[in-house]
Amino acid sequence: MRLLMVAPPGAGKGTQAQRLSARFGIEHISSGELLRREVAAGTATGRRAAGYLRSGDLVADEVVLVMVMDKVVAAARAGGYVLDGFPRTLAQAEAAYRWAAGGDAELQAVIVLQVEEKELRRRLLARARSEHRADDAPGTIEHRLHVYEAQTRPMLRLYSSRGIVRPVDGDGPVDSVTAAVVDVVKDLVPGR
Ligand code: AMP
Repeated sequence: MRLLMVAPPGAGKGTQAQRLSARFGIEHISSGELLRREVAAGTATGRRAAGYLRSGDLVADEVVLVMVMDKVVAAARAGGYVLDGFPRTLAQAEAAYRWAAGGDAELQAVIVLQVEEKELRRRLLARARSEHRADDAPGTIEHRLHVYEAQTRPMLRLYSSRGIVRPVDGDGPVDSVTAAVVDVVKDLVPGR
């Protein structure tokens, strides 16, 4: 099973991706988490990415592609993946498609979690209090919501044209969102 979770910040894509990974035994690949680890370890990639993470801007496409794509191809061979936060721009989506083409690593479904903006802000502020993520500061939250609309949402057109977008209502309690997501994807693999 090869999935992508797309959602604005605060919609719960990380949580739902983790649950899909556990439920279907597929690898959870979170570009944000990988980048935070690079920053914490002080690697060259981490030093390039740190300022962007802090401000809520997107890290350069080629930095993310090089960091993630080998993992995606390996996970596809090992039984599947759920991508969380990558691809995040049209350019990344096109590059990932070229990279994976012909190798049976391409996406089967793109789950788009839909959550009201007011609820997104509420969840992000709550997460700022509990997880202390630098990019959950109030000013940065607004910027990240804008970056999603300007740079990530347009990418969905590509997946729509391939007929693989599956919108899911992400406003409710975590467990009901998981049930709705599982319902959408379980048809991809008969018998699960
Ligand atoms: P996330 O954990 O998905 O909310 O990502 C946190 C931050 O990591 C984002 O605000 C970006 O600065 C960076 N990031 C994560 N994934 C990507 C990506 N695919 N392309 C560019 N920047 C990314």
